[in-house]
Parts: sequence; structure tokens; C-alpha cells
Amino acid sequence: MVKMVGNKNSGRKKDPVSDYIRMGKKTLYIRQTQSRDTGKWIDDPIFTWFKRHHGAKWQSQVREFMRLDVEQYKREQFWRCKCPNHGLLGNYIPNRVPKCHICNTWKNKITELQHGGRR
Ligand SMILES: [Zn+2]
Repeated sequence: MVKMVGNKNSGRKKDPVSDYIRMGKKTLYIRQTQSRDTGKWIDDPIFTWFKRHHGAKWQSQVREFMRLDVEQYKREQFWRCKCPNHGLLGNYIPNRVPKCHICNTWKNKITELQHGGRR
């Protein structure tokens, strides 16, 4: 079943969600400077330009950047062992770790040979 969450007061986006998925609000701090003329606090021009560029989709643009960044981080900094892919880290092993001590998988043949099959 799909329902809408949020109301006018919360500012929560009305993304389509299921009974088990919702949008959780996180706080993002933006640098502000005080205007000498008006005394008002003004958002960082970078943030204002970003919103101008992406309009109502600026939050989904931030989410898309996060998705791509994490994708690249996992691809470049981790390797996958043969453990079940459960939990947040799943079977992602940092590149500096040559062998999974749970399933005994080596990162690759080279690291195995370098360690003489031990460790
Ligand atoms: Zn493993």
C-alpha cells in the first residue's frame, strides 16, 4: 500500500512511500552571513545558486550525489568477500585488509601469493 506522509507543518516532502519506508528529516547546516544593511542572515550564495539551478529538486540532487559518491567509494576502497551480504557493511572489506578471517577469502590471487597463503 502506498500512502503519502508529511503535512504542511513538518515540511516533510510528500514522496511516495510504503508502510515500511518513509523520508527521515536530517539537518543540513548552511553558512550564513549577516547583511550590514538589513541585519538579516543571508544564505551562502553557493546554496542559493544550487537551489536556483535545481529548483524543487535540489534535495534529490544532493541524494543523487551521495548515491554516486558512495558507489565510487565502495568500488575503489573495498572488495567483496564470500560472506553473506548482511548489515550496513555487508561483505565489503577495506582494501588494506588482504583476507576475510570469517570466510577465508583473499582479496585476490596476488595478495594471497604475497602473504604466502598465510595470515
Ligand atoms: Zn568473508
